[in-house]
Amino acid sequence: MQGDRIPTPFDGRKVAYHLPHWSAMERGEIPPPVLVTLDPAAACNLVCRWCNSEEQTEKGVRYSAAAIVALPAMLRRWGVKAVCVAGGGEPLLHPRISTLLEGLHAEGLEIGVVTNGTLIDRHMDALGCCRWVGVSVDAGSSRTYEDLKRRDQYGAVTENMRQLRARWPALEITYKYLVHPDNIEDIPEAASAARSIGCNYFHARPAGRTWVDVQAGRVSSPFTVPQVTRASELLATLESCDDNGFIQATTSKFSDAWGISNRFDKCRAMGMTCVIQPDNTIGLCCDRRGDSRTTLGTWEHPDDIPKLWGNAAHWRAMSLVNLDDCPRCTYAPHNELYEAFVANDHTCKWFI
Ligand code: SF4
Ligand code: SF4
Repeated sequence: MQGDRIPTPFDGRKVAYHLPHWSAMERGEIPPPVLVTLDPAAACNLVCRWCNSEEQTEKGVRYSAAAIVALPAMLRRWGVKAVCVAGGGEPLLHPRISTLLEGLHAEGLEIGVVTNGTLIDRHMDALGCCRWVGVSVDAGSSRTYEDLKRRDQYGAVTENMRQLRARWPALEITYKYLVHPDNIEDIPEAASAARSIGCNYFHARPAGRTWVDVQAGRVSSPFTVPQVTRASELLATLESCDDNGFIQATTSKFSDAWGISNRFDKCRAMGMTCVIQPDNTIGLCCDRRGDSRTTLGTWEHPDDIPKLWGNAAHWRAMSLVNLDDCPRCTYAPHNELYEAFVANDHTCKWFI
């Protein structure tokens, strides 16, 4: 281990493991995606102020029963290693989500679920199939929760997390906290709640502009300078009292003012991962769900999906990405490292 950094799931250095994938891309081949995101249901029971999935949730569609059964085997055959069952809505709203999780587990895929936590109690057994569950709580009190999400479910969500911890002691549970101008003062209380629930991590990161905002010209940081200062101080205080990596704050993908900061010239992340969406489209960017310019194509049966991956349209979509259309990029570290170590050779890479 280098220095005093404890390896955690939030450690961006893990992208180094995937250099062979990038080398293949440099030779003109796109290997199967390492990670696939599954969006089972384009619907949600909350209305978060920062939601970047409104384009999707308005559609109200979900995976068919046939797709739920066929997707896991297709993903295993394709060579996918891990699956993030996540957004574009609340995944646990799908009535067959337990079947999907159990199917993915039976095929040997690693599973992570990102959920708003309101429905964990309905799927307690199947969630034990997961490597990790991240619960987007984003508040440390009922008052803040209701203010940000229009319904007070704070008590119900934190109780669900307690039950999940009791049911699956080895499951990695993260209390996710999207820092917003109106929840900054709740940060210490939320971190304390995460500890008392028995979470493995408290993960905070700033809210950013959505791709719809960016493409409408709203690109400035949602935070004022005093808000960034205050939130940074609170997070630094928590980190200073934490010697086991429980507190995780991800701010490196943002500018100093917590605005957009994509420090690379081209998108290569669209060759690493994709989003299988419930409107039967394949998205190539989780930050631009619903944007036709980052949509690879449509699928009827899951077996259609690998046939589209790596074709000429895929390369063309990746080459046409205009970074001015992008919000803060989840895969910024991938794109930065690709340019530093694969596309360019400023490092004399053979001289180890
Ligand atoms: S829980 Fe997620 S999908 Fe639902 S409104 Fe909030 S951000 Fe959007
Ligand atoms: S946000 Fe932009 S650069 Fe990042 S993966 Fe999406 S399209 Fe590519």
